[in-house]
Amino acid sequence: MVRIRFHGRGGQGAKTAARLVATAAFLEGWMAQDSPLYGAERRGAPMTAFARLDRAPIRERGMIARPDLVVVADDSLLADPAAHVGDGVEADTVVFVNSEQAVTQLLERAPCPGRLLTGDLTGLVLAQLGKAGALSGPLGAVAARLVGLSETNLRTALVMELGELGLPVPVIEQNLSMAHACFELVQPVPLRQNGDRPGQPASLRTPTYEPPTSGTARISALANVTVRKTGGWRTFRPVLDPEKCIGCWMCYLHCPDGAVRMTGATHPLIDYDHCKGCLLCVEECPTLALISEREAGLVRRSS
Ligand code: SF4
Ligand code: SF4
Repeated sequence: MVRIRFHGRGGQGAKTAARLVATAAFLEGWMAQDSPLYGAERRGAPMTAFARLDRAPIRERGMIARPDLVVVADDSLLADPAAHVGDGVEADTVVFVNSEQAVTQLLERAPCPGRLLTGDLTGLVLAQLGKAGALSGPLGAVAARLVGLSETNLRTALVMELGELGLPVPVIEQNLSMAHACFELVQPVPLRQNGDRPGQPASLRTPTYEPPTSGTARISALANVTVRKTGGWRTFRPVLDPEKCIGCWMCYLHCPDGAVRMTGATHPLIDYDHCKGCLLCVEECPTLALISEREAGLVRRSS
């Protein structure tokens, strides 16, 4: 059995990525199972998704405590204790991280006990779409490639699953193109196959309610929005061009986190300590006064 664990943030597409690799494996004749696990169920908050692939019927259910392959949607998750990326990772676990950084650079900033691989999937999405977008297609394609599934079955899975989500044909075609690029970006790696050895039960994390901190936001912390800094969730930031701003307040109205304030000069002021980078304000700005800018140097930038 190959056990795959995806780590992402709400909205990045890790759940769909798990579904894509499971469907591609199923089309290839494997048994397959996939499931997501949300915490805060909030855009930007860390979440996990699982896929199990096997030639034999799969008897296991639930969380994957000891993965053979870990796929991480952005490198800021490595430094986020709430994401638990390193749980159950051993020396022979393959860990792929979406990052602009090379393996050696990333290891200096975020030690990883597994066999680390990196690739810039966000750069791929930016090149293809011209803006930030969900990573489900690229993450699913990387996982399929590393496992050794065929591109043909991955493409069929993309058309089926993204079509079922109601995505328009041009978006599905862009994902097919990105999937092809991912197949060129990474090569299959020998993954450990755990055979008949039963998976270890995942430890249950019982929430203990913590005092408010200004560090990583956790669902288990007491309500403390004024001190919790969700700016650490951001992979893109909204940036204002004041010349184009007409002071319509649409960004203020649509920000789900109250991270936009209007100044006396009627221009918005973005609170980057708490802006989680959902880019709703960029989508809603009628004059394109807000643009999205990729955060540089993840694995803990300052906000
Ligand atoms: S300021 Fe914009 S990007 Fe930041 S949380 Fe609010 S709507 Fe999202
Ligand atoms: S939505 Fe755009 S134009 Fe309106 S206040 Fe915000 S930045 Fe200015």
